[in-house]
Amino acid sequence: MVERSPVVGLLALQGDFDAHRKALAERGVESVEVRVPSDLDGVAGLVLPGGESTTILKLMEGTGLDSRLVDLVRAGLPVLATCAGVILLAREVRHPAQRSLAVLDILVERNGYGRQIDSAVVDLEVADPAGLGSATLEGVFIRAPRVTEVGEGVRVLAKRGGDPVLLQQEKVLAATFHPELTDGSPVVDLFVRILSALG
Ligand code: GLN
Repeated sequence: MVERSPVVGLLALQGDFDAHRKALAERGVESVEVRVPSDLDGVAGLVLPGGESTTILKLMEGTGLDSRLVDLVRAGLPVLATCAGVILLAREVRHPAQRSLAVLDILVERNGYGRQIDSAVVDLEVADPAGLGSATLEGVFIRAPRVTEVGEGVRVLAKRGGDPVLLQQEKVLAATFHPELTDGSPVVDLFVRILSALG
């Protein structure tokens, strides 16, 4: 699917980065684990996995990774952020509030689906089949954040019960669910297409 072989950086401080490595490898895309800023040298894209955003933020402290990530996202690096990764990128985080990299123009509430239904596999409403490249989409949600505000430059590609759950801002693709846990997910396919478009 990919002509040149782009190498994707996987933020590997904590969380389910290995599932992303496998999903990318199945599509012929190589990845490297990222723990310090120099691991990002030469990457053609970036994956911010799910996990525990508070822990990931703490582990980033003092490494210089956070400011390097902000610079790369602002420079237009393709990014796939899932669940905690979306919380890291959001403009504002509530419930509870925590700091973030503030490069994706959305507001999120952590654990926004409550304790009773905190994890679920849901058929999503595809808002933009052409943008996604598929009319159907499954979402695996694990203590997912809820997106409560979306800025003008952000396209909503899919929803769950009216809430935006898959969003695109330029080359940043953000899923509040876990596409890496669904075999053959069109979300990972779309990320690979965004990467390939680098030519
Ligand atoms: N609830 C987690 C957080 O707030 C995110 C859960 C996930 O990434 N699966 O960081």
